[in-house]
Amino acid sequence: MAKAYDSSNVFAKILRGEIPCKKVHETTYSLAFADINPLAPVHVLVIPKGAYVDFDDFADRASPEEMADYVKAIGDTAKIAGAADGGYRLLSNCGVNANQEVPHLHVHIFGGRHLGRMLKKDGD
Ligand code: AMP
Repeated sequence: MAKAYDSSNVFAKILRGEIPCKKVHETTYSLAFADINPLAPVHVLVIPKGAYVDFDDFADRASPEEMADYVKAIGDTAKIAGAADGGYRLLSNCGVNANQEVPHLHVHIFGGRHLGRMLKKDGD
């Protein structure tokens, strides 16, 4: 069964043009914009334009065209944002254990500095 999508989430509002964003890249099915609270010199979010809650919801329901577009948009955005040469990290928080705050699929791109190890062993 499809996960319930809450269309009042902040990224749905950005997609509807109800609130602004600092756009980095846009394709037919995807949008990339600067994170409002950056945790690294490069911190960009890439989202599908379709209403998907998280990565497994996207894997269940997105079309092959949306999937191909999204993967390419993430890689292209890393280059456009200037993160590709020095190296970068992709991260997607999905659900409660990952502390997902905005219930619309998004991949964070972090870069512009050395990012340290990927995760603390025991959480925080
Ligand atoms: P998470 O759901 O925990 O992966 O993180 C959601 C991210 O969305 C956080 O890094 C927020 O800073 C970011 N965020 C929340 N509202 C906005 C907004 N209006 N524009 C850009 N980024 C946002």
